Amino acid sequence: EELPSPPVDPQQKEPLAGPNVMKVVMVGAECAPWSKTGGLGDVMGALPKALSRRGHRVMVVAPRYSDYQGISHTGVRRQVSMFGQSHEVGYYHTYKDGVDYVFIDHPSINKRGSDIYGGGRLDLMFRCALLSKAALEAVWHVPCGGVTYGDDNCVFIANDWHTALLPVYLQEHYRNYGQMTFARCVFVIHNMAHQGRAPFVEVNNLEFSEEAKEKFRLYDPVGGEHMNILKVGLETCHRIIAVSTGYAWECQTQDGGWGLHNVVGENKWKLRGIVNGIDYQEWSPEQDVFLQSDGYTNYSMDNFKVGKAQCKAALQRELGLPVDPNVPLFGFIGRLDYQKGVDLIRDNYEWLMGEKVQLIFLGSGMQELEQALRDMENWNKSNCRSWVGFSVKMAHRITAGVDMLLMPSRFEPCGLNQLYAMAYGTVPIVHAVGGLRDTVKPFNPFENSGTGWTFARAEAHMLREAIGHSLDTYRHHRDSFRALQRRCMDQDLSWDHAAQLYEEVLVEAKYQW
Ligand code: ADP
Repeated sequence: EELPSPPVDPQQKEPLAGPNVMKVVMVGAECAPWSKTGGLGDVMGALPKALSRRGHRVMVVAPRYSDYQGISHTGVRRQVSMFGQSHEVGYYHTYKDGVDYVFIDHPSINKRGSDIYGGGRLDLMFRCALLSKAALEAVWHVPCGGVTYGDDNCVFIANDWHTALLPVYLQEHYRNYGQMTFARCVFVIHNMAHQGRAPFVEVNNLEFSEEAKEKFRLYDPVGGEHMNILKVGLETCHRIIAVSTGYAWECQTQDGGWGLHNVVGENKWKLRGIVNGIDYQEWSPEQDVFLQSDGYTNYSMDNFKVGKAQCKAALQRELGLPVDPNVPLFGFIGRLDYQKGVDLIRDNYEWLMGEKVQLIFLGSGMQELEQALRDMENWNKSNCRSWVGFSVKMAHRITAGVDMLLMPSRFEPCGLNQLYAMAYGTVPIVHAVGGLRDTVKPFNPFENSGTGWTFARAEAHMLREAIGHSLDTYRHHRDSFRALQRRCMDQDLSWDHAAQLYEEVLVEAKYQW
């Protein structure tokens, strides 16, 4: 077997992490730019690079959902036992931006394309369990730059319920048998609402001892008696990170914990909140590749007034809205789920049209909400446009071109669109919840402070009031609005700070256990 040549990264700086240098293995169901349905994909694409910049050896393990260009088979194949059978997985590898990307190949995965979570509950559970098991084996068998990772100084970062089995397999199949005794697992909660719930009998598919199986049993008024993968992941992992401090707290409340608030509460000694950052390589108005054609333009703090105006005109033109520099232009980008509160915008639709604003939606998801978007466009084609679908290019262009971004999420663990908006000088209007409350400081016109408009409850009239304030500032106090945009753009929202905090948790998991 020919081994890949050792990695050489010209951008590799002196390690910052010194004696704490670790082998970090981050595992998740999606990883941008190869696969993404939401924020998890963005975090998987950005945090590993930031940890590598701090001097750690970093591997990402994600599924190979299609034939990714330029990424080759390592020749490594392993048998993974699950659902009563043995399954062969293959390992693909590439080294990029200081990170080893390892992609898991299996017939259940490699034709899914963008339909990452489809195929029914059992199929999904199978793929998730397969990913967790295959990732644990990767550190032993996949040569990265000629050398495998091994378990000394190894910390896994598992993400959301899809990989919540990883800490459990690590404990039950390895550590309990004296293997991987140095390895630890930090678990990151990006969204508590999805937990891997299933009828209890399905736990038999996962190949645990009778004793371990019992740990999956949960009874709650929502699900009755069921198996809950997230529950055991939270209990078994060595540290928990929630994607904002606000969300770390909300997960312990009845409303935010989705039936697991007690489990989070009992484990809060190992829980910490850390807000996500922005990958400026992907999301900065200075370098954004999607702003380099079709009349858009890159811009910076120094020329954002002109740059944003040009992007606004290009966006209006591209979507067939009247090109008007003075009309207030609002955007919404997100998964169409009741979580995102897009229905609260719909409930204000007539009022908004009466206010003579322009509205642009980009989203895909629940059918009735997709229909609501199409309806709003059809009712008033000269003021409203809906792009139903998933388009990274349009997400970037809308973020740059609109004046204000609406994020009326009912709950929002961290939220990335408000961060991207601020980086682009687009002022966010958000429900003050979870990560939105942590990252958007309410505008105070008297002190000239704050970075957006916030409202206290996810109700249509409260959203309307916040939009009303924004319109007043936009129309009648343009200097104040410009200052607000400048404050938004002036923040350091990079991953570097967050990566340092992650490192603190990794070190705790490693040495204070
Ligand atoms: P969540 O993870 O709950 O979906 P986040 O705000 O954390 O929400 O992250 C959403 C990410 O997905 C952002 O990068 C956003 O731009 C992207 N996104 C969501 N919907 C779409 C879409 N229809 N087209 C393109 N990008 C989208």
